[in-house]
Amino acid sequence: MLHPLIADPHATRHILKKFKLRAVKSLGQNFLIDPLVVEKIVAAAEISAGEDVLEIGPGIGTLTQGLLEAGANVTAVELDKKLPAVLKETLAGYKNFRLVEGDILKINLSELMPQKFKVAANLPYYITTQILLTLLEKKLPVTKIVTMVQKEVAERMTAAPGSKIYGALSLAVQFRSQPSIAFEVSPESFLPSPEVTSAVVVCDVRRPPEIDEEFFFKVVRTAFAQRRKTLLNSLACFGKEKLLASGIDVKRRAETLSLEEFAALCKFLKG
Ligand code: SAM
Repeated sequence: MLHPLIADPHATRHILKKFKLRAVKSLGQNFLIDPLVVEKIVAAAEISAGEDVLEIGPGIGTLTQGLLEAGANVTAVELDKKLPAVLKETLAGYKNFRLVEGDILKINLSELMPQKFKVAANLPYYITTQILLTLLEKKLPVTKIVTMVQKEVAERMTAAPGSKIYGALSLAVQFRSQPSIAFEVSPESFLPSPEVTSAVVVCDVRRPPEIDEEFFFKVVRTAFAQRRKTLLNSLACFGKEKLLASGIDVKRRAETLSLEEFAALCKFLKG
């Protein structure tokens, strides 16, 4: 069966008109209308036929169609109750598509995706961080997470120590994955156009450092809560003497410490 391409401004306008829909701002709805961007996201996800892919927020099925055409088994979670009727029509005939109605932050993902899977999504920007942290922290069998996010968030996710934007989000993402920016996407690639430039980030999920994770993030959050202070001051609540004996120069500030240095410091503070 030949399917008309959804990633196209005319097709998207036609679908929205036909179903009397308008993009809902509060649900972060900015629909992709650029076929090249869909193609590049699918390529960045390195999909092979038969692979399980979780999509968050399929919308009217634009990226979903690209994933299905690449041979993926797509499970898509959508919150907007008006969209299932649309998807039934736009993706009619695709066999490997499963739609789950609900909130991605409330669904039991271990039950939904019990086998190895990848994530591909043009995320709703109002909950980008919560979604990313849920995917990374729930110890799911996910191997690669390819997401469209605001460029500024992409830069924070991939920031290296020493940069002004390096912080708790960088460490949370980098604790469990190796993130890299695949490409930037201009506002004109969406309908309606968002106010910001976007970027697609690829997170290759990896085994985290062997360390008490809860304690690690407690230290990280405490250190970055007062990022202008030296470690001796920002982390004083963990014991100044221990800090002085840790081997890390405590005159440094949180933003200069690599993930490995934070891990070593935590091991020492706990020991
Ligand atoms: N994938 C489509 C595309 O690329 O054109 C739509 C992307 S749009 C940026 C974000 C989608 O996420 C919307 O369809 C929106 O309804 C959905 N969404 C918003 N909040 C959600 C949530 N909590 N759980 C699941 N889907 C959600």
